[in-house]
Amino acid sequence: MYDISFMLLPVAAASGWYFATRQFKRKQSGVKLEHSGYFKGLNYLLNEQPDKAIDVFVDLLEVDNETIEIHLALGTLFRQRGEVEKSIRLHQNLIARPQMTSGLRADVLHELGLDYMRAGLLDRAESIFLELEKNSEHKLGSCHQLLSIFQQEREWLAAIDYVVKLEGLENNRQPQVLSQLHCEVAEESLAKNELNKAAGHLKKALKIDPGCVRASVMTAQLFKQNGDFKRALKALLAIREQDIRFIPVFLDLILDCFNNLNQAKQKFNFLADLQAGNDSIFVTRRYIDVLIEQEGKQHALDYLQEKLLQEPKQSLLKLFAQVKADNDSDQDSQFFCQIINKLEEELFSFQCKQCGFTSVDLNWCCPSCKQWAVNEPVVV
Ligand SMILES: [Zn+2]
Repeated sequence: MYDISFMLLPVAAASGWYFATRQFKRKQSGVKLEHSGYFKGLNYLLNEQPDKAIDVFVDLLEVDNETIEIHLALGTLFRQRGEVEKSIRLHQNLIARPQMTSGLRADVLHELGLDYMRAGLLDRAESIFLELEKNSEHKLGSCHQLLSIFQQEREWLAAIDYVVKLEGLENNRQPQVLSQLHCEVAEESLAKNELNKAAGHLKKALKIDPGCVRASVMTAQLFKQNGDFKRALKALLAIREQDIRFIPVFLDLILDCFNNLNQAKQKFNFLADLQAGNDSIFVTRRYIDVLIEQEGKQHALDYLQEKLLQEPKQSLLKLFAQVKADNDSDQDSQFFCQIINKLEEELFSFQCKQCGFTSVDLNWCCPSCKQWAVNEPVVV
């Protein structure tokens, strides 16, 4: 951790310069400045006694347009150091002062709102930013904070309202975020068995962002729930145009639709096409399953042997051993197959294109950087 005196050097330098010039001006005009409290407070800070320093600053009577900057800088420093209770005390004290102008009060309120956010006191932060939203200078910042609060509180409809507001304020469309938020509302509706409401939000999600894979998958699940496998399959096959990298992730859902529709030939053709242009072992594995199902094990082994010669990969070797073990009565061969089968299993993995966070689970909102639709499948 940084030494507090090091962290506070900018504040000390700024305030030292400020008081020097201010004192000079006051001397010239013959006014005596009661500034000893500021130096006392700074001394406490530089001697790593922040609690005593806070007491001094809170008791200071003189807070105006110029000295407020020092209070705000101190508050920010405390918040950045994680000492939120100190920054809250400092800001609450400033707000309570009757001589504050409305502009300064709004600045301090904004800082207090950020303190509450940092402390996880979202309700308090929410009321502050709702008030500040009416102030033209703080409108944009408050809308960003409110969006963050409503997302953390999982109040998706309110979050949607704020994305729309921000789109207008910043003249910047956010279709991916909006469609993900509609998917969240749809998830909640599904959990409550409100199927029509869920379908409505999924429709909106796809209208706003036709490339939303999540909305297609959820739409397909909704159709499946109603036994409509034809439309479920259509919704899932749209992923090929949306982002083909997600096809292996939802491959079993797609194959399940083909099975329910008794479309064995179409399933085979779909997998044959897919594996020809796809390096994913999950695709190869499912292709081998249908190859065995429709043309027999020997055919599948021949295919794998040829593929292994072209690209000798552990995942392919393991798949070969699995098929071989079922097809071979030779003891040595069985032994080697068992060993190969113990090699580590590949799992799906996902990586965030914004912050690099990796996970074996697909997160539509990155747990690390909190951005939507940024986690992408890594081919295994
Ligand atoms: Zn991320």
